[in-house]
Amino acid sequence: MISFWENKHFLTYDYLIIGSGITGLSAACSIKELEPNASVAVLERGLLPTGATTKNAGFACIGSFTEKWHDLELMGEDAFLQLIEDRWKGLAKLRSRLGDPQIDYINNGGYELLFANQHISQAQLQHMNGLLKKIFNQDVFKTDASLIQAFGFNKQMVSNVVVNPLDAQINTGKMMRALYRLATSLNTYVATGAEVVSIEESGSGVNIFVKNPLSFEPILFKANKVAVCTNAFTGKFFPNLEITPGRGQVIVTQPVDDLKVKGVFSFDEGYYYFRNIDNRILFGGGRNLDFEGETTTEFGPNQKILDTLSFYLQEMILPGKEMKIDQQWSGIMAFGKNKLPLVQKVSDHVAVGARLNGMGIALGSKIGEEIATLLVNG
Ligand SMILES: Cc1cc2nc3c(=O)[nH]c(=O)nc-3n(C[C@H](O)[C@H](O)[C@H](O)COP(=O)(O)OP(=O)(O)OC[C@H]3O[C@@H](n4cnc5c(N)ncnc54)[C@H](O)[C@@H]3O)c2cc1C
Repeated sequence: MISFWENKHFLTYDYLIIGSGITGLSAACSIKELEPNASVAVLERGLLPTGATTKNAGFACIGSFTEKWHDLELMGEDAFLQLIEDRWKGLAKLRSRLGDPQIDYINNGGYELLFANQHISQAQLQHMNGLLKKIFNQDVFKTDASLIQAFGFNKQMVSNVVVNPLDAQINTGKMMRALYRLATSLNTYVATGAEVVSIEESGSGVNIFVKNPLSFEPILFKANKVAVCTNAFTGKFFPNLEITPGRGQVIVTQPVDDLKVKGVFSFDEGYYYFRNIDNRILFGGGRNLDFEGETTTEFGPNQKILDTLSFYLQEMILPGKEMKIDQQWSGIMAFGKNKLPLVQKVSDHVAVGARLNGMGIALGSKIGEEIATLLVNG
């Protein structure tokens, strides 16, 4: 049975946020910035955040050239530029909110590896740089084949490198600890092990039923307004929203002697990505090898993809070097057809901020801000 104290001090809020990834915690901070006296709580089903944010690669980036080219064709100029600007603003918000030293923001640049069958023309580079100048006031992409040798890649496999000096890396673990510290310092209550099983509008507010591990009866939380920041897992509550889950596989090597790789790297339109972390390589991706198998909300390995990651790691990224894989994990992202995130009200008192399309480090703070504004002003 719920006590008088629990009822009065733990279960009723002005704002409840479901999900404690970067979007949920950012939304909590933004609500407190907009309405400092509001009572805010975050409900997280895992003991740790258990979606994409603490599983990701830590690329603080606007993305690779071939991925951008594909996006431009898919979205058209206006939506494309808007998305890039949102990513840049989201990164600026994250950095100013938490501070670069707290998240280990390091700008070693971004690099895309091209294969012999991939050719980028000068006209394409100029067109893309011309468009992006509207945002960055500088050329963003250039090619530099001398980097193949400088980074120690296999010359038989890599034919050129596209450089993007704006892309950077962060330490995802430190970023999430810093965001958690900020949210709680703003007097947000973060409950972990709190899986929301249903959300029901009730007159002037919302009833949220949370699984109670110690009883068959769920615990009822109440709020005036609710932000659903459950990304790939949002379909459980709102099956009609266009949100497709996508699992991502990641490996990390043991420390590598004399590691030349420094920065954030990608190939195959961003489907594969790797970076240095300490003196190791973190390498992820390959979802396009098995779209069907990876369209899932279940965590777990995919052997075909892991074998391919090992192959590229040994043969292309670290040719001739001794390397051992130390750790492996997966995370679950959320995708939509047009690459745009989804921020919308789904009922009078409930809004969703989700579908970050694999760009959450850049977009998470911005989407958190947008959902907070929607709820506070709506
Ligand atoms: C392998 C991998 C690599 C990536 N690399 C990068 C990268 O380098 N750069 C980049 O910008 N982006 C990257 N991304 C994408 C980025 O991590 C996501 O876009 C971002 O983390 C999404 O944040 P979120 O808070 O919206 O969702 P999530 O981090 O998924 O958070 C949702 C939270 O909701 C919780 N939840 C779900 N259901 C319930 C429920 N019923 N009750 C309570 N809580 C619930 C989950 O446990 C989870 O903690 C990567 C993602 C993956 C998986």
